[in-house]
Amino acid sequence: MNFQELWESALGEIKLNISKANYLTWLKDAFIMDLKGDTVFLGIPSSFTKEWLENKYHKQILSALYNLNPEIKKIEYIVTTDKNSLKKINITKAKQSSRSQKSSILDEQLEFNIDSETNLNPKYTFENFIIGTNNELANAAALAITENLGSKYNPLFIYGGVGLGKTHLLQAIGNRLKSKNKKIKIKYASSEKFTDELINAIRNQKMTEFKKSFRNLDLLLIDDIQFIAGKDKTQEELFHTFNNLHGKNKQIVFTSDRPPKSIPSIEERLRSRFEGGMIADIGYPDFETRFAILEEKSQEVRHLISDDVLRYIAETVSRNIRELEGALNRIIVHARLKNGAITLEEAKKILSSILNRSNQYIPPKEVIKKIISFYDLNESEILGHSRKKELVKPRQIVMYLLRNELKYSYTNIAEKMGNRDHTTVIHACKKITKEIEDNPVFAQEITILKEIIYNK
Ligand code: ADP
Ligand code: MG
Repeated sequence: MNFQELWESALGEIKLNISKANYLTWLKDAFIMDLKGDTVFLGIPSSFTKEWLENKYHKQILSALYNLNPEIKKIEYIVTTDKNSLKKINITKAKQSSRSQKSSILDEQLEFNIDSETNLNPKYTFENFIIGTNNELANAAALAITENLGSKYNPLFIYGGVGLGKTHLLQAIGNRLKSKNKKIKIKYASSEKFTDELINAIRNQKMTEFKKSFRNLDLLLIDDIQFIAGKDKTQEELFHTFNNLHGKNKQIVFTSDRPPKSIPSIEERLRSRFEGGMIADIGYPDFETRFAILEEKSQEVRHLISDDVLRYIAETVSRNIRELEGALNRIIVHARLKNGAITLEEAKKILSSILNRSNQYIPPKEVIKKIISFYDLNESEILGHSRKKELVKPRQIVMYLLRNELKYSYTNIAEKMGNRDHTTVIHACKKITKEIEDNPVFAQEITILKEIIYNK
C-alpha cells in the first residue's frame, strides 16, 4: 500500500465517525508525507487545522492508521502544502513564486510566510494586482516609489473604501523593494499595531527600542491610518517618527479609508504632513476590472468555473473586491464539494443566498447550535469561560458571525454568549476579521460556516 492508499483507507474509516463539514474542513487536504519507523508524518495545510487535528481528532486518526498498519504508533503533524517533499518543510522564507503559483486564492502556501521582521505578506504583489481605471493612479504612484525611494512622492497617501486593494498595494511596494534588495529595512504596520507597540513600549520602559524600530528604516508602511483619530499619544509619536524619517529622505506610505482632510480628531500638523506628498485614491472597479480580478484569482481552478459564471459574479458583486473574492470562493467551495464545474444556474442559486441575506432572520440560538455541531463542541463549552484555544476560536467565530452576518449589536451578542463584556465581542470580531484577511484557509472555513448557518 502506498502512502496515498494508506491515507485514503484511513480516511474511509474516519469519515464514518465525523460530519461531512468537519471532514471537509479538517481532513480533506491532509496527506501522508512519510512513514518512518513507527511515525507517520502528516502534512496539514494550516497551523489552525494542525491544532484541531491534534486536539480533537488525533485518537481517531491514529486508531484508523493503526488498524491498517499496527506498526504505526505516532503521528507528527506538519504544516505544509507541498505534497512532494519533506525537505521543504523548514523553508519558511517567502517562496519565489512562479506566475502560475502566485495568484490563486487557493494558494495557501504563501499565507504562512508573513515575514516576522517586515510583517509583509508575500502574497501581495504588483504582479497579481490588476490595474483598472479605479486604481491606475495609486498603482503608478506606488510603482514610482519602488523606483525612486524617498525622493519622489514622500509621503504617499493612498485612500479608498473597504476591500478595494489598499493593503494589497501598500504591501506590494514593500515586497517589490525587498525582492530587489534583501538588505533594505522595511516595516509594515497597521496604525493600531503602531499604537499597541507604543503602549507596550511605554509600559515596559522600552521607548528607545520602539523609536529605533520605527526610525531605523528605509521604508515605513502604515496601514489604516484613520484609526489614529483621537489617540493623542500615538499622533505625537507618529509625528516625530515621520519627521525623523522624512528628514533623512526615508520613504513613508500611508493608507486610509478617507482623505486626510476627512479624518476627524487629528492634529493639524499631522494632517499637513499627510498632505505634503502625493495623495492617490482608489475607487470602485468597473466591470472589466472585476472580471479580470476574478480571472486572476481563479486561474488554478478555471476548469471548474466558466466565463459565464465569472461574468455573473462580476456583475453581481461590484463594490468590494474582498466580497468579490468571497463570492468566487463560495463557488469554488461548491465546485469542490460537487467535484465538478458549476453551471450558471447553480452559481445563481449559490449566490442568491448571499445577496438576499440581509433580510434573513436567524436567531442567535440557531447560529450557536450550528457552530457547536460543526466543531463538535457542547453548549457549555462555547458559552463558558475556558481559555483553551480550541474553544476560544469557535466562540470568537460565533460572535463574529452574529455581528457581521446577522447584525446583532455588540451588547446583545455579549448577553447571548453567556453574559460577557461587550468589549470582548468587539475584540473577537476584530480578531476574526483580521484572520480572514490574512489567511485564506481560514477565510474558506468561514465561508463554509456561513453556508451552514444560512442553509436551513
Ligand atoms: P483594503 O485594504 O482596501 O480594504 P485589500 O487590499 O485587503 O483591501 O483587498 C481586499 C482583497 O482584494 C485582497 O485579497 C486583495 O488581494 C484583493 N484585491 C484588491 N484589489 C485588487 C486588484 N486590483 N487586483 C487583484 N486583487 C485585488
Ligand atoms: Mg486594508
